[in-house]
Amino acid sequence: MLEKVLIANRGEIALRVLRACKELGIKTVAVHSTADKDLMHVRLSDESVCIGPPAAAESYLNVPSIIAAMELTDADAVHPGYGFLSENADFAEQVENSGFVFIGPTAETIRMMGDKVSAIDVMREAGVPTVPGSNGPLDSNNERTLSLAKKIGYPVIIKAAAGGGGRGMRVVHNEAALLKAIHVTQTEAKSFFGDGTVYLEKFLENPRHVEIQVIGDGQGNAICLGDRDCSLQRRHQKVIEEAPAPGIPDDVRTDITNTCIQACKNMKYRGAGTLEFLYEDERFYFIEMNTRVQVEHPVTEMVTGIDIVKEQLCVASGEPLSVSQEDISITGHSFECRINAEDPATFLPSPGKVKLFHAPGGPGVRVDSHLYSGYAVPPFYDSLVAKLISHASTREQALVRMQIALDELLIDGIRSNIPLHRDLVRDREFQRGGVNIHYLENKLES
Ligand code: ADP
Repeated sequence: MLEKVLIANRGEIALRVLRACKELGIKTVAVHSTADKDLMHVRLSDESVCIGPPAAAESYLNVPSIIAAMELTDADAVHPGYGFLSENADFAEQVENSGFVFIGPTAETIRMMGDKVSAIDVMREAGVPTVPGSNGPLDSNNERTLSLAKKIGYPVIIKAAAGGGGRGMRVVHNEAALLKAIHVTQTEAKSFFGDGTVYLEKFLENPRHVEIQVIGDGQGNAICLGDRDCSLQRRHQKVIEEAPAPGIPDDVRTDITNTCIQACKNMKYRGAGTLEFLYEDERFYFIEMNTRVQVEHPVTEMVTGIDIVKEQLCVASGEPLSVSQEDISITGHSFECRINAEDPATFLPSPGKVKLFHAPGGPGVRVDSHLYSGYAVPPFYDSLVAKLISHASTREQALVRMQIALDELLIDGIRSNIPLHRDLVRDREFQRGGVNIHYLENKLES
C-alpha cells in the first residue's frame, strides 16, 4: 500500500481524499495556496506545504511547485481530486517521470480521452453508442460537410475536440448558418484551447444527462458501479445528481453497463472514470469520458456501499479491485445537492466569513464539506462549499430525507443556493423523475 499521498487539491474533495487515506493508514501531505492555510484538511493532514499565492495558476496548477513538494515531503503518490490538474496528461506524465505515482489513469489514456474526437473513436470501436455525426474532425471539404449535416438532419452541434467546461460548442439550426458556425468555432477553439479541431454531431433536443461510473485496475479488469442522472443543470453546471438514474429500462441499462465495462477492459483503464452520455428515447449516446473522480461520486457510494476514493488508492498501490462485478448491487436511491457560496437569485459568488455552520444529520444523511464556523470562503476558487447527500430505500424517501436535511442545514454569514435546493426538491416534475437537461434553466426563466 502507498505510504504517503500528497493531495493536490483544496476544499471538500481534499478533505474527502484525506479521510480515505486515513482509513487506509496512509500518511497525507496537504498543499495549499497562501489564501488556503485555514482549510480543514490542511489542519488535519500529517504535513502541509504552501505552494504559492492565491491565483490557481501559481499554486494549484503550478506543476514544478507540486512536484517539489512531493520531493520535499518524500510522498509516494499524488491524488489530483477533480478540476485543477486532474485531467492534465502532461502533469500525470511529469509525476511518473519523476518517480511518483499519479492516482489516476496513465498519461496516454488521459490524453486520448481529453481529445473528444479520439475518445469517441475509441468508444465507437468498443461498441459504445455515440451521437450520429462526422466520426472525426471536419476538414476543408465544405461540400462533404454540408451533405453530411443534411443527412444527419438539423439542428446539429459543432464541438471543439479539445473543448471542456461547456465551452467550444455551437448549435446550428439550418444549412445557411453551417459553414460560418464551423469557422467561428474553429477560431474560438484555437484561441481557447490551442487546437482548432472541430467535429459535428446531431444536436439532441431534449436529452437527459446520464453517466456511468467505472473503475479499472490497469491490468484489464474493470467494473461498473452503476449510473447517475445529472440532468438538473444550469449553464452546464450540475446542481442536483442522483443514483440510479430513474426510469431506465432494465435491458437498456444492462446493455450499456456491459458495453462500458468492455470498453474499459479493452483500454486497460486504470482508476476511477465516468462515461458521460446523453439519454433520449431510451437510447444512450456517448459524449465524453472523465478520467478522474467526480464531484457527484458520493451518490454512487451510497447506493453501492463502495468507497470510490479508497478503490482509487488501492489501484494506485498496485492492488486488485476489492470487489468483482458480481458483488455489486444497487441498494435504494441517493441524491446530492451541490451547495455553492453564491446568491440564490443572481448566482453571483458570495465569498466571506461563515459565522455559523450547522450540518444536518440522522439516518441516510451525509455531508461532504470543508466548512466550519469562523472559516472564511476565499474569493479565488470554485464556489462549491458543501455537498449534501441523502440515501433511502426508495427515491421518494431519499427526497424526503433531502428536504429535511436542507431545512436543517445552516450556513450563516455568506449567501448560498440552499433556498434554490429547498425549492427544487419540492418541484413536482423533478419529484416525478426524469427531467431533461433544459428543465432547470426553463424553470428559472419562467
Ligand atoms: P464539456 O466537456 O464542455 O462539458 P460535453 O461534450 O460534455 O462538453 O457537453 C456538455 C453539454 O453540452 C452536454 O451536457 C449537453 O448539455 C450539451 N451537448 C453536448 N453535445 C450535445 C448534443 N450532441 N446534443 C445536445 N446537447 C449536447
